[in-house]
Amino acid sequence: MKRPIFTVQKHRASRLHYDFRLEIGGTLKSWAIPKGPSLDPAVKRLAVEVEDHDLAYADFEGVIEEGSYGAGPVLVWDTGWFEPTDQGTAAPSAEAMWKAGTLDIRLHGHRLRGRFSLVRMKGRPRQWLLIKQRDKAARPGFQATEEWTTSALSGRSIEDVEREVAAGSLKTYRCG
Ligand code: MN
Repeated sequence: MKRPIFTVQKHRASRLHYDFRLEIGGTLKSWAIPKGPSLDPAVKRLAVEVEDHDLAYADFEGVIEEGSYGAGPVLVWDTGWFEPTDQGTAAPSAEAMWKAGTLDIRLHGHRLRGRFSLVRMKGRPRQWLLIKQRDKAARPGFQATEEWTTSALSGRSIEDVEREVAAGSLKTYRCG
């Protein structure tokens, strides 16, 4: 069976944020995380559910064009594959967990590894929390977004992306 992908895109739109995306049901379910993911189990990060994206967008690095929603540079901060965490019962399905509002997953990325939970907040349908679970991959006190600022795929910084798009060697993207 093909492994479902995840991706985290660092996106400097009107505000810097990190788009966390999971391949579920043939699309990329997406959350915008203002402060970015953390490997510290003591940290809960707000993750606001946003519109699904096409699978083809998962490895996009470049600039979203002026006039499009989210205009600004994007880089792939992390990517890899994920699996629903075994709950000890029937084979877990990411789609069922997404619907139920508690996604327990194991990430196999360049930077994000091990078990994470995405939990929908009660009474706030689009607001979730991303929490690192305690395991060998947890790094208490580690400031992931400060330590890792560039693309996990290409090594580009946000400024490199802007420069390369201006020079015509990297793509722009038009939304909607
Ligand atoms: Mn975004």
